[in-house]
Amino acid sequence: MDRTTPTVTGTTRLPDSLCTHTPKCPSADSPDREAAHVVASHPEQGWSLLCNGVLLFEDTGELLPDGGVVAPHRPVAAVA
Ligand SMILES: [Zn+2]
Repeated sequence: MDRTTPTVTGTTRLPDSLCTHTPKCPSADSPDREAAHVVASHPEQGWSLLCNGVLLFEDTGELLPDGGVVAPHRPVAAVA
């Protein structure tokens, strides 16, 4: 039996973008992706979720919605 595709119509599936802003925020594959709005912030865990689906870490590393990883690209103040 093929049950790999649940027949749920839409409501539980994560959208490609959570963006409801106007104008629309930069997409996750845009160089400006960090300019998107934060929709969920977890400073105690060191990350924020942007409305374009990017997970932005406090060290400026990023996790993209397609599973890609962006290495931290800004100097962090506390360099041991
Ligand atoms: Zn947005």
